[in-house]
Amino acid sequence: MIYEAKVNDLAEEFGVHRNTIRNWINTGVLPAQPGPGRRYLIQWVDYKRLCDKYGRQPRIVPDADPTIQTDPYPAIPRSSTSTHPPVRLEGKAGNSLYSSPALADLCVTCGSCAGACPISGIDDLDPRKIVRMAFLGLEAELIESDWPWKCSLCGKCEVVCPMNIEIVQLMRRIRAQRDRDKVPAAVQKGVITCLEKGNNLGIPKEDFLILLKGLGKELAQTSCPGFVTPIDVRGARLLVTINSRIPFVEPDTLSWWWKILHAAGESWTISSEYWEGANWGIHASDYKAMRTIVKRIIDNVERLNCKALLLPECGHAYYATRYALERWFPEALQQFKMYTLFDLLLEYLNEQRIQLNPKLHTKQTTFHDSCNYGRHSKKTFGQDYFAEARILTQACCKRYVEMTPNREDNYCCGAGGGAWADPFRAERVYHGRLKARQISESGAKLVVTACLNCRDQIQSALNREFNLRVEVQYLWELIANSLVLPSPDSENG
Ligand code: SF4
Ligand code: SF4
Repeated sequence: MIYEAKVNDLAEEFGVHRNTIRNWINTGVLPAQPGPGRRYLIQWVDYKRLCDKYGRQPRIVPDADPTIQTDPYPAIPRSSTSTHPPVRLEGKAGNSLYSSPALADLCVTCGSCAGACPISGIDDLDPRKIVRMAFLGLEAELIESDWPWKCSLCGKCEVVCPMNIEIVQLMRRIRAQRDRDKVPAAVQKGVITCLEKGNNLGIPKEDFLILLKGLGKELAQTSCPGFVTPIDVRGARLLVTINSRIPFVEPDTLSWWWKILHAAGESWTISSEYWEGANWGIHASDYKAMRTIVKRIIDNVERLNCKALLLPECGHAYYATRYALERWFPEALQQFKMYTLFDLLLEYLNEQRIQLNPKLHTKQTTFHDSCNYGRHSKKTFGQDYFAEARILTQACCKRYVEMTPNREDNYCCGAGGGAWADPFRAERVYHGRLKARQISESGAKLVVTACLNCRDQIQSALNREFNLRVEVQYLWELIANSLVLPSPDSENG
């Protein structure tokens, strides 16, 4: 649950000067994120802690334990002293999409969101219209529509919205309210299969272990003498999760990560159970599933007594896992270190645990920022990976060019939000036309990205549909291919 208030409201509530509130926010005494209308969004637990300290009764009380909310995007409640009066629609008891009208009643219908949205106009999809429909209580129509599923949740609309309306949040809420048997089948099947069988694609444990051991032997024979796939190694420092798509579709590519970890002399392991790193609960807006899948990862860290977790190497998987950790399991983050692939690779590079040869890749190269590692991560966690991505890419590729626009303003590949898996292929390809144009205009012949969905969409769909003829590599693939491996004499197994 989130408490929302302006600085003046808080100053009045706690009987302190507004500069004191600003100091608390700036120094982290009161963790708060800027929200719409110059309000701050404060986690209820942080607000409660402050109330306890000042002997005050909280103005709002959650209905249930906030750590087990099923909706991680709760409505933003109004402060009773807000200067922004609620807009109520006569005769309407409630609005489950906007239980607080704080978001929609700020919309000035400027249309900037529609102008920025790569698929606005397709099948009458228009984010401005969706905001108005939600505000007007046309919930059934929105929940029944396919718009929220054709939307890639890219967040381009939010970046340009002058009123900071949280349109992606709205789309997620609409998705969450759809009957589960009407959720796009591929997404729903992935969620159910993961809950029942431990991974999205239902790979049996025995097959998985045979595959891992076989790949490990191959790697030992080809480039990493002494390599043995570390499965269920208790006390290993780092737990590595795996996106089930990789062992299912292109298992050989697992060796890219393994080569890096081996070269860095990392102590790491893979769990034989619940090793899935992707989390389609976020696509389905099924927050119970999302939480369950992340809890399994935490249990594995504890069972194997690891000190660190490598978050899944895919935009949505990273976002879902980090979101669940920070929101529902903050205590777990006191017990182990959380790495994104950017954090880990940069740490290895800075500590000179890996060496890279910058001369191997001679093609003009660009980096595609995934929406989740970029815009969404910045907005939700206050951290993006724009700089890290460029440092790592340019350590391998000297002929580097940027796409325009990039970083926070980058265009989505078109396959986000579960779009790669769902039935709206034509919309996904159409969405990707802007990405294809960017790539083409950059002159790059190699596109590097840190997300499986982005890579698949650019390599398989955009290359074919828009005749791009570009090579696409994962960031960890690029790093693995650029490694200067130690000579066999220096190997210690
Ligand atoms: S950009 Fe924001 S304020 Fe403008 S129409 Fe869209 S939601 Fe409303
Ligand atoms: S999130 Fe992206 S696809 Fe969805 S409405 Fe906004 S701009 Fe359009």
